Amino acid sequence: MAFDHLQDALTILSNDNLRRRRTILQDDYDGVIKVDCQHYLNFSSNDYLGHRQHQDILQSYVEGLSRYGAGAGASPLVTGHSQCHQALEDHVADSLNREAVLLFSSGFAANQAICQALMYDGDTIVSDKLMHASFIDAAIHSPAQLLRFKHNDIEHANQQLTKASGNTLCVSEGVFSMDGDKGELAALQTSSAQHNAWFMLDDAHGFGVLGETGMGSVEAANLSQDQCQIVMGTFGKAIGTGGAFVAGSQVLIDYLINKAKHYIYSTAFSAAQAKATLTSIELVKNGGARHKLHDNIQYFKTLAKARDLPILESDSAIQPYLIGDPAKALAASECLKQLGLWVNAIRSPTVPKGSDRLRITLSALHQEKDIDALVDGLTMMRTKIG
Ligand SMILES: *Cc1c(COP(=O)(O)O)cnc(C)c1O
Repeated sequence: MAFDHLQDALTILSNDNLRRRRTILQDDYDGVIKVDCQHYLNFSSNDYLGHRQHQDILQSYVEGLSRYGAGAGASPLVTGHSQCHQALEDHVADSLNREAVLLFSSGFAANQAICQALMYDGDTIVSDKLMHASFIDAAIHSPAQLLRFKHNDIEHANQQLTKASGNTLCVSEGVFSMDGDKGELAALQTSSAQHNAWFMLDDAHGFGVLGETGMGSVEAANLSQDQCQIVMGTFGKAIGTGGAFVAGSQVLIDYLINKAKHYIYSTAFSAAQAKATLTSIELVKNGGARHKLHDNIQYFKTLAKARDLPILESDSAIQPYLIGDPAKALAASECLKQLGLWVNAIRSPTVPKGSDRLRITLSALHQEKDIDALVDGLTMMRTKIG
Protein backbone atom coordinates (compact mmCIF):
# COMPACT_ATOMS: atom_id res chain seq x y z
CA MET A 1 0.00 0.00 0.00
CA ALA A 2 1.11 3.55 -0.66
CA PHE A 3 2.26 5.65 2.30
CA ASP A 4 2.32 2.77 4.75
CA HIS A 5 5.15 4.53 6.52
CA LEU A 6 2.76 7.11 7.97
CA GLN A 7 1.18 4.67 10.40
CA ASP A 8 4.55 3.05 11.08
CA ALA A 9 6.06 6.40 12.02
CA LEU A 10 3.20 7.15 14.42
CA THR A 11 3.55 3.75 16.07
CA ILE A 12 7.27 4.32 16.63
CA LEU A 13 6.60 7.75 18.14
CA SER A 14 3.98 6.30 20.49
CA ASN A 15 6.33 3.53 21.62
CA ASP A 16 9.05 6.09 22.37
CA ASN A 17 6.71 8.40 24.31
CA LEU A 18 7.35 11.02 21.65
CA ARG A 19 3.96 11.17 19.94
CA ARG A 20 2.45 14.63 20.02
CA ARG A 21 -1.20 15.38 20.61
CA ARG A 22 -3.09 18.61 20.70
CA THR A 23 -5.16 19.95 23.57
CA ILE A 24 -8.55 21.48 22.90
CA LEU A 25 -9.13 24.60 24.97
CA GLN A 26 -12.75 25.17 25.95
CA ASP A 27 -11.94 28.48 27.56
CA ASP A 28 -8.94 30.73 27.96
CA TYR A 29 -9.15 33.83 30.07
CA ASP A 30 -6.93 35.78 32.46
CA GLY A 31 -4.22 33.12 32.66
CA VAL A 32 -6.64 30.24 33.25
CA ILE A 33 -7.49 27.61 30.63
CA LYS A 34 -10.33 25.11 30.62
CA VAL A 35 -9.66 21.63 29.22
CA ASP A 36 -12.06 18.66 29.52
CA CYS A 37 -14.20 20.76 31.87
CA GLN A 38 -11.27 21.31 34.28
CA HIS A 39 -9.63 24.66 34.95
CA TYR A 40 -5.87 25.10 35.06
CA LEU A 41 -3.47 27.93 35.79
CA ASN A 42 -1.65 28.30 32.48
CA PHE A 43 2.16 28.21 32.72
CA SER A 44 2.70 27.33 29.07
CA SER A 45 1.61 30.42 27.17
CA ASN A 46 3.95 32.85 25.39
CA ASP A 47 1.52 35.67 26.18
CA TYR A 48 4.14 37.14 28.50
CA LEU A 49 2.40 40.47 29.01
CA GLY A 50 -1.23 39.35 28.93
CA HIS A 51 -1.71 41.49 25.83
CA ARG A 52 -3.75 38.86 24.03
CA GLN A 53 -6.85 40.01 25.90
CA HIS A 54 -5.95 43.62 26.66
CA GLN A 55 -9.02 45.80 26.17
CA ASP A 56 -7.27 48.52 24.16
CA ILE A 57 -5.78 45.97 21.78
CA LEU A 58 -9.12 44.24 21.30
CA GLN A 59 -10.73 47.62 20.68
CA SER A 60 -8.18 48.37 17.95
CA TYR A 61 -8.86 44.96 16.45
CA VAL A 62 -12.59 45.64 16.37
CA GLU A 63 -12.12 49.05 14.75
CA GLY A 64 -9.81 47.48 12.18
CA LEU A 65 -12.30 44.72 11.46
CA SER A 66 -15.19 47.10 10.90
CA ARG A 67 -13.17 49.34 8.64
CA TYR A 68 -10.99 46.89 6.67
CA GLY A 69 -12.78 43.53 6.98
CA ALA A 70 -11.84 40.15 8.39
CA GLY A 71 -9.05 39.34 5.95
CA ALA A 72 -6.49 41.19 3.86
CA GLY A 73 -8.06 39.75 0.70
CA ALA A 74 -4.81 39.40 -1.24
CA SER A 75 -1.07 39.04 -0.99
CA PRO A 76 0.84 42.23 -0.10
CA LEU A 77 2.04 42.87 -3.65
CA VAL A 78 -1.50 42.69 -5.02
CA THR A 79 -3.95 44.59 -2.78
CA GLY A 80 -3.20 43.12 0.65
CA HIS A 81 -0.93 45.88 1.97
CA SER A 82 -3.03 48.51 3.78
CA GLN A 83 -2.10 51.74 5.51
CA CYS A 84 -2.35 49.79 8.81
CA HIS A 85 0.40 47.44 7.61
CA GLN A 86 2.51 50.38 6.48
CA ALA A 87 2.01 52.22 9.78
CA LEU A 88 3.07 49.11 11.69
CA GLU A 89 6.17 48.65 9.52
CA ASP A 90 7.13 52.30 9.97
CA HIS A 91 6.59 52.16 13.73
CA VAL A 92 8.70 49.02 14.21
CA ALA A 93 11.47 50.38 11.98
CA ASP A 94 11.52 53.61 13.98
CA SER A 95 11.47 51.79 17.30
CA LEU A 96 14.43 49.61 16.32
CA ASN A 97 16.40 52.36 14.56
CA ARG A 98 16.24 50.46 11.29
CA GLU A 99 15.67 51.86 7.82
CA ALA A 100 12.82 49.52 6.98
CA VAL A 101 10.66 46.60 8.10
CA LEU A 102 8.75 43.87 6.28
CA LEU A 103 5.79 42.00 7.78
CA PHE A 104 5.35 38.24 7.46
CA SER A 105 2.39 36.06 8.33
CA SER A 106 4.52 34.09 10.80
CA GLY A 107 8.01 33.89 12.24
CA PHE A 108 8.30 30.49 10.63
CA ALA A 109 7.71 32.05 7.22
CA ALA A 110 10.12 34.92 7.94
CA ASN A 111 12.97 32.54 8.85
CA GLN A 112 12.29 30.42 5.78
CA ALA A 113 12.24 33.52 3.58
CA ILE A 114 15.55 34.83 4.92
CA CYS A 115 17.37 31.53 4.35
CA GLN A 116 15.89 30.91 0.93
CA ALA A 117 15.97 34.40 -0.56
CA LEU A 118 19.31 35.67 0.72
CA MET A 119 21.53 32.60 0.54
CA TYR A 120 23.11 31.08 -2.55
CA ASP A 121 25.28 28.10 -3.35
CA GLY A 122 28.75 28.71 -1.85
CA ASP A 123 27.40 30.90 0.98
CA THR A 124 27.45 29.95 4.65
CA ILE A 125 25.09 30.11 7.60
CA VAL A 126 26.82 29.93 10.98
CA SER A 127 24.26 29.37 13.70
CA ASP A 128 23.91 28.48 17.35
CA LYS A 129 22.96 24.81 17.80
CA LEU A 130 19.90 25.72 19.84
CA MET A 131 18.31 28.00 17.23
CA HIS A 132 14.56 27.51 16.82
CA ALA A 133 13.45 24.72 14.50
CA SER A 134 11.93 27.24 12.07
CA PHE A 135 15.39 28.65 11.44
CA ILE A 136 17.38 25.40 11.47
CA ASP A 137 14.91 23.81 9.07
CA ALA A 138 15.19 26.79 6.75
CA ALA A 139 18.98 26.79 6.94
CA ILE A 140 19.21 23.06 6.17
CA HIS A 141 17.03 23.53 3.09
CA SER A 142 18.81 26.64 1.84
CA PRO A 143 21.55 26.36 -0.81
CA ALA A 144 24.11 27.63 1.72
CA GLN A 145 26.19 25.29 3.86
CA LEU A 146 25.16 25.25 7.50
CA LEU A 147 27.82 25.31 10.23
CA ARG A 148 26.50 25.12 13.75
CA PHE A 149 28.34 26.14 16.91
CA LYS A 150 27.86 24.87 20.45
CA HIS A 151 25.30 26.90 22.32
CA ASN A 152 26.69 30.35 23.19
CA ASP A 153 30.25 29.09 22.61
CA ILE A 154 32.09 32.05 21.06
CA GLU A 155 35.33 30.12 20.54
CA HIS A 156 33.47 27.52 18.49
CA ALA A 157 31.53 30.21 16.64
CA ASN A 158 34.84 31.79 15.67
CA GLN A 159 36.16 28.46 14.40
CA GLN A 160 33.05 28.01 12.27
CA LEU A 161 33.27 31.58 10.96
CA THR A 162 36.86 30.89 9.93
CA LYS A 163 35.65 27.90 7.88
CA ALA A 164 32.86 29.89 6.23
CA SER A 165 32.92 30.83 2.56
CA GLY A 166 30.89 33.19 0.40
CA ASN A 167 28.38 35.57 1.92
CA THR A 168 28.11 34.55 5.55
CA LEU A 169 25.23 34.98 7.95
CA CYS A 170 25.93 34.43 11.66
CA VAL A 171 22.74 33.84 13.63
CA SER A 172 21.66 33.72 17.24
CA GLU A 173 18.56 34.30 19.32
CA GLY A 174 17.96 37.17 21.70
CA VAL A 175 16.34 34.84 24.24
CA PHE A 176 16.51 31.12 23.50
CA SER A 177 13.05 29.63 23.18
CA MET A 178 13.62 26.42 25.12
CA ASP A 179 16.36 27.41 27.59
CA GLY A 180 15.32 30.99 28.28
CA ASP A 181 18.91 32.24 28.42
CA LYS A 182 20.22 35.13 26.35
CA GLY A 183 22.47 34.91 23.31
CA GLU A 184 26.05 36.22 23.52
CA LEU A 185 25.16 39.10 21.26
CA ALA A 186 28.06 41.49 21.80
CA ALA A 187 30.73 38.82 21.28
CA LEU A 188 28.97 37.28 18.27
CA GLN A 189 28.53 40.68 16.71
CA THR A 190 32.24 41.40 17.09
CA SER A 191 33.21 38.01 15.63
CA SER A 192 30.80 38.48 12.72
CA ALA A 193 32.27 41.89 11.93
CA GLN A 194 35.81 40.48 12.07
CA HIS A 195 34.86 37.81 9.55
CA ASN A 196 32.95 40.20 7.33
CA ALA A 197 29.74 38.29 8.07
CA TRP A 198 26.28 39.70 8.68
CA PHE A 199 24.86 39.15 12.13
CA MET A 200 21.20 38.15 12.45
CA LEU A 201 19.05 37.93 15.54
CA ASP A 202 15.83 35.94 15.96
CA ASP A 203 14.22 37.90 18.77
CA ALA A 204 10.89 36.08 19.04
CA HIS A 205 11.15 35.98 22.84
CA GLY A 206 12.95 39.27 23.42
CA PHE A 207 10.78 41.65 21.40
CA GLY A 208 8.19 43.21 23.72
CA VAL A 209 10.07 42.20 26.86
CA LEU A 210 13.72 43.32 26.89
CA GLY A 211 15.29 46.76 26.53
CA GLU A 212 14.42 50.06 28.13
CA THR A 213 11.25 50.49 26.07
CA GLY A 214 10.62 46.79 25.46
CA MET A 215 11.89 46.79 21.90
CA GLY A 216 13.92 43.70 22.55
CA SER A 217 17.45 42.38 22.55
CA VAL A 218 18.69 44.84 19.95
CA GLU A 219 17.66 47.71 22.18
CA ALA A 220 19.04 46.00 25.31
CA ALA A 221 22.42 45.30 23.66
CA ASN A 222 22.37 48.61 21.79
CA LEU A 223 23.09 47.02 18.39
CA SER A 224 22.82 49.31 15.40
CA GLN A 225 21.75 48.27 11.91
CA ASP A 226 25.44 48.14 10.93
CA GLN A 227 26.15 45.74 13.78
CA CYS A 228 23.07 43.53 13.51
CA GLN A 229 21.97 43.65 9.90
CA ILE A 230 18.86 41.46 10.25
CA VAL A 231 16.42 41.49 13.14
CA MET A 232 13.56 39.01 13.03
CA GLY A 233 10.81 39.32 15.61
CA THR A 234 7.37 37.88 16.10
CA PHE A 235 4.05 39.34 17.25
CA GLY A 236 2.61 36.03 18.46
CA LYS A 237 4.43 36.02 21.78
CA ALA A 238 4.73 39.07 24.04
CA ILE A 239 2.85 41.27 21.58
CA GLY A 240 -0.16 38.96 21.82
CA THR A 241 -1.41 39.03 18.23
CA GLY A 242 0.35 37.10 15.46
CA GLY A 243 2.65 37.47 12.49
CA ALA A 244 6.27 38.56 12.37
CA PHE A 245 8.69 41.09 10.95
CA VAL A 246 12.15 41.42 9.47
CA ALA A 247 13.98 44.72 10.10
CA GLY A 248 17.09 46.02 8.37
CA SER A 249 18.36 48.20 5.59
CA GLN A 250 16.09 49.54 2.85
CA VAL A 251 18.05 47.42 0.36
CA LEU A 252 17.45 44.26 2.41
CA ILE A 253 13.71 44.93 2.64
CA ASP A 254 13.35 45.91 -1.04
CA TYR A 255 15.22 42.75 -1.98
CA LEU A 256 12.91 40.58 0.15
CA ILE A 257 9.83 42.25 -1.33
CA ASN A 258 11.08 41.18 -4.74
CA LYS A 259 12.58 37.79 -3.96
CA ALA A 260 11.04 36.27 -0.82
CA LYS A 261 8.48 33.71 -1.99
CA HIS A 262 7.01 33.41 1.50
CA TYR A 263 6.13 37.09 1.26
CA ILE A 264 5.11 37.35 -2.38
CA TYR A 265 2.90 34.27 -2.64
CA SER A 266 1.07 34.44 0.68
CA THR A 267 -1.99 36.38 1.79
CA ALA A 268 -1.09 39.26 4.08
CA PHE A 269 -2.34 39.08 7.66
CA SER A 270 -5.38 41.26 8.17
CA ALA A 271 -5.24 45.04 8.46
CA ALA A 272 -7.15 44.67 11.74
CA GLN A 273 -4.35 42.49 13.08
CA ALA A 274 -1.80 45.08 11.98
CA LYS A 275 -3.76 47.81 13.76
CA ALA A 276 -4.10 45.76 16.96
CA THR A 277 -0.40 44.88 16.81
CA LEU A 278 0.58 48.53 16.60
CA THR A 279 -1.59 49.34 19.62
CA SER A 280 0.05 46.48 21.52
CA ILE A 281 3.55 47.77 20.74
CA GLU A 282 2.57 51.25 21.94
CA LEU A 283 1.36 49.68 25.20
CA VAL A 284 4.60 47.72 25.56
CA LYS A 285 6.46 51.01 25.63
CA ASN A 286 4.37 52.20 28.60
CA GLY A 287 6.01 49.42 30.55
CA GLY A 288 3.42 48.43 33.19
CA ALA A 289 3.05 44.79 32.20
CA ARG A 290 6.78 44.41 31.55
CA HIS A 291 7.61 45.44 35.10
CA LYS A 292 5.02 43.04 36.50
CA LEU A 293 6.52 40.23 34.39
CA HIS A 294 10.03 40.94 35.64
CA ASP A 295 8.76 41.00 39.25
CA ASN A 296 7.09 37.62 38.68
CA ILE A 297 10.28 36.15 37.23
CA GLN A 298 12.30 37.29 40.27
CA TYR A 299 9.61 36.00 42.64
CA PHE A 300 9.57 32.56 40.97
CA LYS A 301 13.36 32.32 40.91
CA THR A 302 13.63 33.14 44.61
CA LEU A 303 11.05 30.50 45.58
CA ALA A 304 12.49 27.86 43.23
CA LYS A 305 15.96 28.43 44.62
CA ALA A 306 14.76 28.10 48.21
CA ARG A 307 13.24 24.71 47.29
CA ASP A 308 16.33 23.69 45.32
CA LEU A 309 14.33 22.94 42.17
CA PRO A 310 16.37 21.97 39.05
CA ILE A 311 15.57 25.12 37.08
CA LEU A 312 18.03 26.11 34.33
CA GLU A 313 19.68 29.50 34.84
CA SER A 314 17.42 32.03 33.15
CA ASP A 315 16.33 35.62 33.75
CA SER A 316 13.56 35.45 31.18
CA ALA A 317 9.92 34.40 31.31
CA ILE A 318 11.04 30.96 30.15
CA GLN A 319 12.06 28.86 33.17
CA PRO A 320 12.93 25.28 32.18
CA TYR A 321 12.66 22.48 34.77
CA LEU A 322 15.09 19.83 33.59
CA ILE A 323 13.97 16.18 33.75
CA GLY A 324 16.02 14.32 31.14
CA ASP A 325 13.66 11.60 30.02
CA PRO A 326 10.56 11.88 27.79
CA ALA A 327 8.33 9.46 29.75
CA LYS A 328 9.21 11.16 33.04
CA ALA A 329 8.64 14.59 31.57
CA LEU A 330 5.16 13.53 30.46
CA ALA A 331 4.45 12.02 33.88
CA ALA A 332 5.59 15.25 35.56
CA SER A 333 3.32 17.32 33.35
CA GLU A 334 0.44 14.93 34.10
CA CYS A 335 1.11 15.14 37.85
CA LEU A 336 0.97 18.94 37.73
CA LYS A 337 -2.32 18.76 35.82
CA GLN A 338 -3.83 16.85 38.73
CA LEU A 339 -2.94 19.90 40.81
CA GLY A 340 -4.57 22.34 38.41
CA LEU A 341 -1.29 23.52 36.89
CA TRP A 342 -0.75 23.46 33.13
CA VAL A 343 2.94 23.06 32.27
CA ASN A 344 3.83 21.43 28.97
CA ALA A 345 6.50 18.76 28.68
CA ILE A 346 9.03 19.50 25.93
CA ARG A 347 10.71 16.44 24.51
CA SER A 348 13.24 15.65 21.81
CA PRO A 349 13.58 16.54 18.99
CA THR A 350 12.37 19.99 20.09
CA VAL A 351 15.17 19.88 22.69
CA PRO A 352 18.32 17.70 22.53
CA LYS A 353 17.92 14.06 23.59
CA GLY A 354 18.31 13.62 27.32
CA SER A 355 17.26 17.19 28.11
CA ASP A 356 13.50 16.58 28.14
CA ARG A 357 11.92 19.10 30.41
CA LEU A 358 8.98 21.07 31.65
CA ARG A 359 8.95 24.46 29.98
CA ILE A 360 7.48 26.87 32.50
CA THR A 361 6.54 30.27 31.16
CA LEU A 362 5.62 33.16 33.40
CA SER A 363 3.37 36.05 32.52
CA ALA A 364 2.36 39.43 33.84
CA LEU A 365 -1.09 37.85 34.26
CA HIS A 366 0.17 35.63 37.10
CA GLN A 367 -0.28 36.75 40.66
CA GLU A 368 2.08 35.83 43.47
CA LYS A 369 -0.39 33.26 44.76
CA ASP A 370 -0.40 31.57 41.34
CA ILE A 371 3.38 31.29 41.47
CA ASP A 372 3.15 29.99 45.08
CA ALA A 373 0.83 27.26 43.78
CA LEU A 374 3.23 26.45 40.95
CA VAL A 375 6.24 26.08 43.23
CA ASP A 376 4.26 23.97 45.73
CA GLY A 377 3.08 21.82 42.82
CA LEU A 378 6.59 21.37 41.44
CA THR A 379 7.82 20.37 44.90
CA MET A 380 5.07 17.75 45.26
CA MET A 381 5.68 16.51 41.74
CA ARG A 382 9.40 16.08 42.43
CA THR A 383 8.63 13.89 45.48
CA LYS A 384 6.25 11.76 43.43
CA ILE A 385 8.18 11.39 40.16
CA GLY A 386 11.68 11.44 41.67
C1 LIG B 1 7.92 31.09 17.90
C2 LIG B 1 9.24 31.25 17.28
C3 LIG B 1 9.37 31.40 15.89
C4 LIG B 1 8.22 31.23 14.96
O1 LIG B 1 7.34 32.31 15.04
P1 LIG B 1 5.81 32.10 14.65
O2 LIG B 1 5.31 33.46 14.42
O3 LIG B 1 5.18 31.40 15.82
O4 LIG B 1 5.77 31.25 13.42
C5 LIG B 1 10.62 31.64 15.39
N1 LIG B 1 11.70 31.72 16.19
C6 LIG B 1 11.60 31.56 17.52
C7 LIG B 1 12.83 31.67 18.35
C8 LIG B 1 10.38 31.31 18.10
O5 LIG B 1 10.28 31.12 19.42
